[in-house]
Amino acid sequence: MAEIKVPDIGDFEEVPVIEIHVAAGDEVEVEQPLVTLESDKATMDVPSPEAGTVKEVLVSVNDKVSEGTPIVVLEGGEGSEGSDAEEKDEAPTEEGSEASGAGSETPAGDAESRNSRDSGGNSTSGRDEPAGKRVVVVGSGPGGYTAAFRAADLGLEVTLVERHERIGGVCLNVGCIPSKALLHAAKVLAEAQDAAEFGISFSDPEIDVDKLRTWKEEVVGKLVGGLDGLAKRRKVNVVRGEAKFTSPNELDVDGEKVEFDHAIIAAGSRTVMLPDLPEDERIVDSTGALELPGIPKSLLVIGGGIIGLEMASVYEALGSKVTVVELTDQLIPGCDPDLVKPLAKRVADRYEAIHLNTKVASADAQKGGIKVKFEGDDAPKDATFDRVLVAVGRRANGDILDLEASGVEADDRGEIQVGPDRRTNVSHIYAIGDITGAPMLAHKATHEGKVAAERIAGHDVVFEPRAIPSVAYTDPEVAWCGLTETEAKENGTKYEKAVFPWQASGRALSLGRAEGLTKLLVDPESRQILGAGIVGPSAGELIAEVCLAMEMGADAEDIGLTIHPHPTLSETVAFAAEMAEGTITDLYAPKKS
Ligand code: NAD
Repeated sequence: MAEIKVPDIGDFEEVPVIEIHVAAGDEVEVEQPLVTLESDKATMDVPSPEAGTVKEVLVSVNDKVSEGTPIVVLEGGEGSEGSDAEEKDEAPTEEGSEASGAGSETPAGDAESRNSRDSGGNSTSGRDEPAGKRVVVVGSGPGGYTAAFRAADLGLEVTLVERHERIGGVCLNVGCIPSKALLHAAKVLAEAQDAAEFGISFSDPEIDVDKLRTWKEEVVGKLVGGLDGLAKRRKVNVVRGEAKFTSPNELDVDGEKVEFDHAIIAAGSRTVMLPDLPEDERIVDSTGALELPGIPKSLLVIGGGIIGLEMASVYEALGSKVTVVELTDQLIPGCDPDLVKPLAKRVADRYEAIHLNTKVASADAQKGGIKVKFEGDDAPKDATFDRVLVAVGRRANGDILDLEASGVEADDRGEIQVGPDRRTNVSHIYAIGDITGAPMLAHKATHEGKVAAERIAGHDVVFEPRAIPSVAYTDPEVAWCGLTETEAKENGTKYEKAVFPWQASGRALSLGRAEGLTKLLVDPESRQILGAGIVGPSAGELIAEVCLAMEMGADAEDIGLTIHPHPTLSETVAFAAEMAEGTITDLYAPKKS
């Protein structure tokens, strides 16, 4: 007879029981849910740690329970002999999530795929992975925490090292998430302004910067708090401090020794600062800009890439006069020009100035502002700005980890080369995310993190995605995935282009945003999708459909034949596919055959 108690449920206490799944006399299997608890964050099932017959249920619905509260008396059945359920400390499973300790579920060497076309179970499979369960993950951004959590769920012993107080990395703390919170505020302001076009005018907004900053910090705080809880529940040992390798199997973390059998390096990247700029608190990088120290009257953004333009959107909406200076001949270099055009047109109307083919020659910190001299064929005259944001790219952190001691090689850009299995040149050390180079994207890092963790657990997986989406959360948003037209032209890839202009989308017209377009690049022979680009509101959401289509090997006809809800912007993807197939009726562009 064993009394089954509530296991470790993280920081939660006095959590209500919302459902009871068993009654006296029921036979239960191992892992079968006994009761469901509900915290303010999630519902969680408490699984039976062993098989047996329920003798008595000790709780009722709405009872409040904490770790250690007895819930069921179980009479030993198969597998329960001699076991002490109270000490097994089985983790509860969250609704919809996989059961923990799944390491045994997939025998090593079974062909699995994760963003992969099947790694084939060849000699590079997980079977040659060195033994040992101790995994250290360096860096707790989206790549690192995902790798750590997946590894823990697969039964490995995980230490996660983070040099900052808060886990979550750049993305959660000073990147994607706070910028999206501020971009949402910018969107509300811009939409209120745009509404004048259809007869609704608001008075000028009153912006409480302190409140906006607090709200942004609360958004970040909730996510970071959630991660702490998830780490605890998985028994991931989070160590704070700066990790440096001292040997291929050991790290020093601020004087503390951490030994490991396997390592996953997920130490990210850092902002590149222009060397000739003076040290001045008015010259900031994206982290400084996201702190929202106030709203400058004038802002110079150096770099017309994704970060520069996202922050320009925020500050312009909040009332700054924004000037953008970009070295190349196009905003967001690397993105197809037809996708950038609607964005460039909208911001040209709203910003003070955009200077392409121009760079900053010098900057002088003066009392009245930062005086900047420009260089380039069409360089403007010297000008003074209240604040300057430098957004000229990021650099991988491979140069600050004492990698030589581990034997892992990084190039002179600080980037670590890895294979499709995310392994470095040292077979038990993996690298994922920004530290492995472009594209530096959180969603790429998370998938790589899972591959690395699963390989260490013996799964035969590789990272070979057909499509990685890129999104600029500007207004309008710009999103693309797979092959770009620019790349296709450069490398001679044959493609057919199908473009659906949003002027013919009822939904886009009703939003007052008909400037968008949806473009598909189609393989002329197989008709499969090679790539896609979308510009317009919500482009970042819409691109996901094309990513799925590409991963599934769908062709243009498959997308066109998929019934999309009307009237939505999602239809524009189907309409572009119909353009490719010549079956479109919402425009006049039929194919002859
Ligand atoms: P970036 O490389 O995308 O853009 C930097 C821009 O600065 C380029 O357009 C470049 O030509 C320009 N530039 C470089 N030197 C210059 C100079 N001296 N004067 C003027 N312009 C100059 O870099 P980023 O925008 O800083 O972003 C860094 C990384 O972070 C990228 O990999 C990006 O994809 C990623 N990121 C992605 C997102 C997202 O997915 N929404 C958001 C932020 C960052």
